Amino acid sequence: MRRPYAFLGPIALSVSLVAASPAVVPFASAGTATDSTVLRGFSPAASRIERNWEAKFVSMPVPDSIRGYMRLLSARPHHVGSPADHANAEWLLARFQSYGLDAHIEQFDVLFPTPKERVVELVAPTRFVARLQEATVPGDPTSSQHAEQLPSYNAYSADGDVTAPLVYVNYGIPSDYEELARHGIDVKGAIVIARYGQSWRGIKPKVAAEHGAIGCLIYSDPRDDGYADGAVFPAGPMRPSDGVQRGSVADMPTYPGDPLTPGVGATANAKRLSLAEATTLTKIPVLPISYGDAQPLLAALGGPVVPGAWRGGLPITYRFGPGPARVHLRVQSDWSRHPLYDVIATIPGAVEPDQWVIRGNHHDAWVNGAEDPISGLSPELEEARALGALLKQGWRPRRTIIYAAWDGEEPGLLGSTEWVETHADELRAKAVAYINTDVSDRGYLGISGSHILERFINDVARDIDDPETHLTAWKRDQLAAIRNGSADERRDARQRADLHIDALGSGSDYTPFLQHLGIASLDLRYGGETNGGIYHSIYDDFFWYTHFSDTSFAYGRALAQTVGTAVMRLADAELIPYEYGNLAETVHGYVDDLKHLADGSAEAARERNAQLREGVFAATSDPRDPTIAPPRDTVPPHFNFAPLDNSVDALSRSADRFAAALAKAWARGDDIPAATLLRVNAILLRSERSLTDARGLPGRPWYVHQLYAPGYYTGYGVKTMPGVREAIEQKKFAELDDDVTRVAAALHAEAALIDQASAELEAGR
Ligand SMILES: [Zn+2]
Repeated sequence: MRRPYAFLGPIALSVSLVAASPAVVPFASAGTATDSTVLRGFSPAASRIERNWEAKFVSMPVPDSIRGYMRLLSARPHHVGSPADHANAEWLLARFQSYGLDAHIEQFDVLFPTPKERVVELVAPTRFVARLQEATVPGDPTSSQHAEQLPSYNAYSADGDVTAPLVYVNYGIPSDYEELARHGIDVKGAIVIARYGQSWRGIKPKVAAEHGAIGCLIYSDPRDDGYADGAVFPAGPMRPSDGVQRGSVADMPTYPGDPLTPGVGATANAKRLSLAEATTLTKIPVLPISYGDAQPLLAALGGPVVPGAWRGGLPITYRFGPGPARVHLRVQSDWSRHPLYDVIATIPGAVEPDQWVIRGNHHDAWVNGAEDPISGLSPELEEARALGALLKQGWRPRRTIIYAAWDGEEPGLLGSTEWVETHADELRAKAVAYINTDVSDRGYLGISGSHILERFINDVARDIDDPETHLTAWKRDQLAAIRNGSADERRDARQRADLHIDALGSGSDYTPFLQHLGIASLDLRYGGETNGGIYHSIYDDFFWYTHFSDTSFAYGRALAQTVGTAVMRLADAELIPYEYGNLAETVHGYVDDLKHLADGSAEAARERNAQLREGVFAATSDPRDPTIAPPRDTVPPHFNFAPLDNSVDALSRSADRFAAALAKAWARGDDIPAATLLRVNAILLRSERSLTDARGLPGRPWYVHQLYAPGYYTGYGVKTMPGVREAIEQKKFAELDDDVTRVAAALHAEAALIDQASAELEAGR
């Protein structure tokens, strides 16, 4: 479901941490792997064999095949519960089987509301009825399939019928309500209109309801993905005036998946909550609208003119309201359950079959979904075809490989979450890694994921050709990071052995793997050279993708090569290729970030309180456009971060010891004894699990990872060390010591696990 970024490559590869780089290598040698380089986790002999198989693999993906899959899979609207959703799943099943993989469909039964009634009308001071309909575009053949299209709506909105004054709330994030308060505007009893952007959409009705609003409209402003950024569809890739972004508004930062079965698989006989008991449905009705429908509503608002940062791209004067615009909003859904069809294909491992490498992409879409999700799924299918061909040539992966096509990602990561919850015990015992893709376009390789895989995925990127520049994907990312980075980021891009990868928040199917079970995960894509405004509209289709995105499917091929190589290498490595030095360096940076956050918020609170005492706000309020002084702020106390510092030190020492033990073990001879490999792998397998706490995060027990989570008030955006960070941000200072203790305990557990693996390697049996 993840939204494409306007510009991605270098952003995706740089984080703002400023920890010194321990692994400084000369610039000339950074990132120049050659075929003779021994792969991490392989002996020299095994490395040569692996490189041979990988060379065969990367020659196999064919752009025209990827194009063909996309044409077929995006031919009809294929949302959850639609005939095309089921037909696509059956077709995918047959393809996996035709490649020689052992495949089946696993079915679940989930709550998926669909719209029955949608009304938005301006009832005062003038009358206007929103059309709520995306028009057929001449020349775009699938845009006319109206009978099969899901109308534009927000899934899991509460039912409701409300009429109230309208208030414009900008992006509808918490700081926007502070600005409203400064202008004396209260949304209690009002309907708010927010624009898409800045937060995940489900945050907007959540925050609106917390402030007492009784209804919420979300519109796509042309400043954000419409004509301000380029020609609109079909002349260009941007959002036309009646284009609407559909999407889920379930409270995913609390838990994703079927709202009725938190924590357990939504199988036929699962124990289900009643609708009233499900905590992730919105409290107020919410509906998305186009900027064509939004403009008359916004133009009818009175009240003060909004600040510059709040102004969008419509040719009107943006005002806060409330009123005189009054809006009638009516939303009613059919709250039926629908079947999900997850397609699961397996290649059994030859040596360690109980260690699993899982690769997935969703297959359901909001409408035709050529970009989201078929641009990631089609390369996945081409990978599976190529791996099937390698099997026929005699390749046998050491570990078991599972290829998955998830259903129901768009409503709330349903297919992946229910599968993960159903198989949780087995996955905890067996999963080595999960690799996800979703939307993919043209440009730079974007990498996010677990930092124990940072070195591994940098190595893969060093071996992939970029189709436009014929540099490696890694080299192109490095040079883009130098061009676009801050001074620290430029230094790291030049001198650090590996490019930084971003931490994962949420927005696609890696979330249940990483954040519910602690399975090391990666999310990969190409992007940064495709701009668009068709996200979750009927115009995300084959016509759009083949005119404005990766039109030659050269990047579809590159994605298949990148992900397939990563899957093979993880599955074939004699030792699981996790690395801990980059993790230690990264968490050191997170702790520094937390200290800066604490200092910064104390400084900001002291400054505000000083200005209140000095009378700054009263003196600078314009009597003709008055603003209200903000309330006194609570100055946070001094926090004790020492447990975190000590745990990071322990982790760094363990990472160094492991690196030395590994180098020595390989240097002892060509091979580490087979029994040692098995013992060490059994320990390493638990590396990401050690970073979890079974009690979960404060207030959201489903999320157990102590380093990475989607923000409670950002939705997709990641919060690193989320328990501690959100305690500071949400001013829950009394909870902070407990959160610090939990994170430190996780890092100590990780250090102890790594020491155990080092001891096995040092013993050399
Ligand atoms: Zn998607």
